[in-house]
Amino acid sequence: MRRAVCPGSFDPVTKGHIDIFERASAMFDELIVSVFYNPGKDKAMFSMDERVEMLKIATSHIQNIRVTSFSGLLNEFCVQEKAPFIVRGLRAFTDFEYEFQRALLIKKMDNNLETVFIMTNSHYSFVSSSGVRELATFGAKLTNLVPECIEERVREYVRQKAD
Ligand code: ADP
Repeated sequence: MRRAVCPGSFDPVTKGHIDIFERASAMFDELIVSVFYNPGKDKAMFSMDERVEMLKIATSHIQNIRVTSFSGLLNEFCVQEKAPFIVRGLRAFTDFEYEFQRALLIKKMDNNLETVFIMTNSHYSFVSSSGVRELATFGAKLTNLVPECIEERVREYVRQKAD
């Protein structure tokens, strides 16, 4: 079975992520979407459990996806899950620099792991979780940025914060 891991913060999941999942799931038998704790991004909007729950709802139309979370090293997770492929989405040059370094570092730790990059869909090249968080804070519409089923959750979060 060809199994791949798609790791990320997904805080929150966007339409850009969903596009990558849909395309990657057609390339592998099973795609494990995993929320990773990222110490560099400690200003999270949603807890890891909330992000997993939202990902499950937003990916329910994709048959061969499993959603989970992990707080350790990505290479350890891949070994645990018997998944030798890592899928990452690529937007602009800024993503490339970061992803390039990250892929080489992972390869250095485990030579059996391959990182596969999927180029962003031009409709979503400007979509990022941080942009969504910023727009949501100011009450902007999130249509076309996050899946419809997630939009209300983000609004609810902002409403509760304002109370
Ligand atoms: P991380 O904190 O690991 O960067 P993110 O949740 O921000 O996690 O992103 C997960 C992956 O999805 C990364 O590879 C990122 O480049 C990719 N990604 C994010 N937004 C988009 C988008 N709009 N189009 C394509 N790929 C994207």
